[in-house]
Amino acid sequence: MTTLADLQFDNRFARLGDTFSTRVVPDPLANPQLVVASTDAAALLGLDSAQMELPLFTELFAGQQIWKDADPRAMVYSGHQFGVYNPQLGDGRGLLLGEVVNPAGEHWDLHLKGAGSTPFSRMGDGRAVLRSSIREFLASEALPALGIPSSRALCVTVGDNPVRRERMERAAMLLRLAPSHIRFGHFEFFYYTDQTDELRRLIDFTLQTCYPECQRETDPVLAMFREVARRTMHMVARWQAHGFCHGVMNTDNMSILGITFDFGPYAFLDDYDPGYICNHSDHAGRYAFNRQPMIAHWNLACLAQALVPFIDVETLKAEIGEVMPLYQAEYQRLMNARLGWAGEQAEDAALLDELLALMQSSASDYHITLRLLAEDDPTTRDHFIDREAFDEWLARHQARQAMDPAALAGRLACNPVYVLRNYLAQQAISAAEQNDFSEVRRLHQILRQPFARQPGQEAYAAPAPDWGRRLEISCSS
Ligand code: AMP
Ligand code: MG
Repeated sequence: MTTLADLQFDNRFARLGDTFSTRVVPDPLANPQLVVASTDAAALLGLDSAQMELPLFTELFAGQQIWKDADPRAMVYSGHQFGVYNPQLGDGRGLLLGEVVNPAGEHWDLHLKGAGSTPFSRMGDGRAVLRSSIREFLASEALPALGIPSSRALCVTVGDNPVRRERMERAAMLLRLAPSHIRFGHFEFFYYTDQTDELRRLIDFTLQTCYPECQRETDPVLAMFREVARRTMHMVARWQAHGFCHGVMNTDNMSILGITFDFGPYAFLDDYDPGYICNHSDHAGRYAFNRQPMIAHWNLACLAQALVPFIDVETLKAEIGEVMPLYQAEYQRLMNARLGWAGEQAEDAALLDELLALMQSSASDYHITLRLLAEDDPTTRDHFIDREAFDEWLARHQARQAMDPAALAGRLACNPVYVLRNYLAQQAISAAEQNDFSEVRRLHQILRQPFARQPGQEAYAAPAPDWGRRLEISCSS
């Protein structure tokens, strides 16, 4: 275990030089307070959790202090936003503080979100508000607990600095952890500005730092693309299986590691509504829940385009053609596990679709219904309007399970009791805005163990109340 003062830095991305990032120091929060911190994330750094109690912890992650070996940088990237290419984005409200090497030799980027303005802030103030920082924190820690790959969050701090949004709010900072902060949009930036040598350097850097196993392949760049595609589609399969909507799947929000990244107006479904749009600003529903696999495919095609100088176009087209089956196979595998269906049968997809159609027409709660089914709870049928249709489906489901009961035992470990519903996050935010951080801390703790019923926490497993359904979350955070 390490102390804050002893964290070891090895700033590989910063060493790529000023074409890739610009040195900027954080603009600190005034009178910072620690809102919430994750011992699990601290452990990834090899950081002793007692360090989280120290004033230095809050000072560092509110931008008031900086390690002498850190080299804080704003990264440049671009990307397709809602299908339209934006030639220059970049870290406008966040900085790569540096890369920590933990005692096991693993690298973790420390990224301080809301660290003030940078050359990429455009019209923005470089700040993050408390509500969006809490939302990102909770999701960053809840998703991995569900088995969904994601960037992580060490802590949230809040200061007295006023920030203007639709109303006046308080500035906050989130310390995000990921093995890399390289996005699809990084490759697009160097491709569309015709900086082919720099694009090559970026690719080589990504191969070395993120995909060393691909360097041994005959065509390392192609091998890397194939692995990014596989990871990305498997990540989206997990989103779909758990009813998670990202909300802003722009290519600048797609991690090259295939992990969930850059949380904005995300949401978990409450009732099963495949066309659900969680982002209030997404009028056309481009990023609706059921469009996510297709959009991931589209985003991978954008990444492929940026690799055209190094991979033959026909080869890339063939790779892109392989992407959707990767998703479908993984999604079916995950849902079979949730339902206790061993192996694969030709009728599985149709039987699953029938259940989902029944859930949709009954507006059944997605998570509760699947959990009750996994518990063989006879009240499951109460969640359906057409009970006879459900009973008929259930008989075929049980026949499917009976083909090989081996998969039944695993069901509880993949059907969560506790899910980060929007209204739960909203309750924690409302309390935190009144300077009461107990609710966000409690919710964080509950979501660490989503698969086991926790005595006394039944309320957190309940469906959303009427006020908490379809809360409108916007991007302006
Ligand atoms: P996001 O919606 O977080 O993916 O951000 C899209 C782009 O807008 C990125 O380049 C961000 O850095 C930038 N951005 C978002 N909010 C702000 C802000 N408050 N100040 C400066 N830049 C911002
Ligand atoms: Mg972003």
